[in-house]
Amino acid sequence: MNISQPQDIVPLDNILPEEPLLMMGAGPVPIPARVAQANSIVINHLGDTLARVIEQVKQMSHYVFQTNSEHILGVAGPGSAAMEMAIVNLVMPGDTVLSICNGFFSNRLSEMAERNEAKVIRHQVPDREFATVEQVAALIEKHKPRILTIVQGETSNTVFNRYLPEISQLAANRDCLVIVDAVCTLSTMPLDMDGWGIDAIITGGQKGLSSIPGVSLVAFSEKAWDVISSPERKIRHWCLDAKLADMFWYKKSYHYTAPVSGILAIHEALRLICSETLPGRFKRHLNHSIALQNAIEAMGLKLYVPPEARLNSVVGIVVPENIESSEVLAYMSQRYRVEISGSFGPRIVRIGQMGEQSRAHNLFRTVHALGSSMKANGGVVNLPAGVAALESTLEAFSFGPAAQ
Ligand SMILES: *Cc1c(COP(=O)(O)O)cnc(C)c1O
Repeated sequence: MNISQPQDIVPLDNILPEEPLLMMGAGPVPIPARVAQANSIVINHLGDTLARVIEQVKQMSHYVFQTNSEHILGVAGPGSAAMEMAIVNLVMPGDTVLSICNGFFSNRLSEMAERNEAKVIRHQVPDREFATVEQVAALIEKHKPRILTIVQGETSNTVFNRYLPEISQLAANRDCLVIVDAVCTLSTMPLDMDGWGIDAIITGGQKGLSSIPGVSLVAFSEKAWDVISSPERKIRHWCLDAKLADMFWYKKSYHYTAPVSGILAIHEALRLICSETLPGRFKRHLNHSIALQNAIEAMGLKLYVPPEARLNSVVGIVVPENIESSEVLAYMSQRYRVEISGSFGPRIVRIGQMGEQSRAHNLFRTVHALGSSMKANGGVVNLPAGVAALESTLEAFSFGPAAQ
């Protein structure tokens, strides 16, 4: 015993703010009370109670992913673990993988494929643009990839791949498996796994679904499962082996101790999505995001991405030349207890519109906090015009604050 007991540890109450910050950045997002409550429970990871919960999680996932596939698996880990699960189970050494790269997260998929010893063809899409069907068609024709990876919404630079349905179909017709990262978009905008011919959809807990970070879902198509379950396949990963995960998710047996609390949380998150219905949820997200975008422009600020390539789930705002974004973000947190995100690259700040972020009361607080903090840090913004635009857009959608 050479290492002595630490003397300066304080309880969490001394570290966490008395009132939590409103999380309006690129994730994690605020969670509904039901989700938080579920997350505080620990039950047996095997047995009938959790089995019933898992049954319902799969049933609800059929709806949320829009798939009849019986290969929906949970993973104890971040969205990146779900990405890795899709990659390591579908990509074998030597496979040609076409990666549509729009930014940070879609690049991560290509990096994972490369680490798996695939021959990776990167299609670098220019910043603030989506991938076009013609470009992707030509690349598929030329390289004949076995797998294509693509992000529906690129959280890092707020770009939306609007032609995902066409690109997926195109690949499916060429016998190329399609892996889609929908971490920030699932349940916030249309995504039709079976209808669009997608073979794997990845999501995390803490963004579109408004659950906790650390428990994620992956849905594989029947076609993907045929590949995965062929007997000669050897997966080097043990935790991420889909065939082993299937033991827990479909055969009521043990793989590893499931993150029970997080599964209960995601159950509640999915239940709230199902009761809201997908069309209702898409409309709420669209309307609130448009209202936010109108408010930003009415204040005199610029949106980073042109409308046709703009993601609604995460909104990128250009930081004016004379303003230091880190100062604005710090001011917003300290003064208004609202947290939004900076960025890894472009001079932007990002406001999330995922799950509980997409509520009128949260938007009024965020728009006010951003405008006021910009002003305090030397920005010229018309805050009243921004708030008015937010209000009038929401009202035009008959989605006023009272209706939330
Ligand atoms: C956040 C995010 C990820 C990664 O999720 P983690 O939980 O941070 O691993 C992947 N893809 C997209 C589009 C994301 O927004």
